[in-house]
Amino acid sequence: MRPACEVWNSATSGLLACAAAASHRGTTLSNAAALSNDKSARMTQKPVFVCSHVFKRRCPILLVSHSDEDWEFLCGGAHEEEELPSDVSLHDLLEADPTLWMIVDLPVNWEAERESAEAAWEKWPIH
Ligand SMILES: [Zn+2]
Repeated sequence: MRPACEVWNSATSGLLACAAAASHRGTTLSNAAALSNDKSARMTQKPVFVCSHVFKRRCPILLVSHSDEDWEFLCGGAHEEEELPSDVSLHDLLEADPTLWMIVDLPVNWEAERESAEAAWEKWPIH
C-alpha cells in the first residue's frame, strides 16, 4: 500500500494551454499512435511538472494529473511538504517512457493511475 501523492499548490501561471489534450476524449491505443504523429511536434514542447523521484528517475511515473492547464507526472508516493515540483518537457518524459503516449490525451480535470510501470493505465475524472 502506498500513500497518495500530494497535489502541489504552487503557482503555475504561464504554462501553455493544452487544447490538444482536451479535444481528444476517448482515446484508444490506435489513435494515441495517430496523435503521436500529428500533434506531437506542437504538444510535446509543453512544460509539465514532475516530482523529485521522477525527475531523478528514481521512480516510474504511476500517477498523472491534468488539472486546469497543468500536467503533473508523479511517482504516486509520499513527498516532503516543502518539495517543489520540477518542470520538464513532455517530450523528454515520452522519450524516457513511451507508455505515456497512452495518456497524453487525458482531458482537463482527469487523472490516470497505474499499479506499476508495466500495468495498464486507469483514467477517471478528478471531480
Ligand atoms: Zn515522487
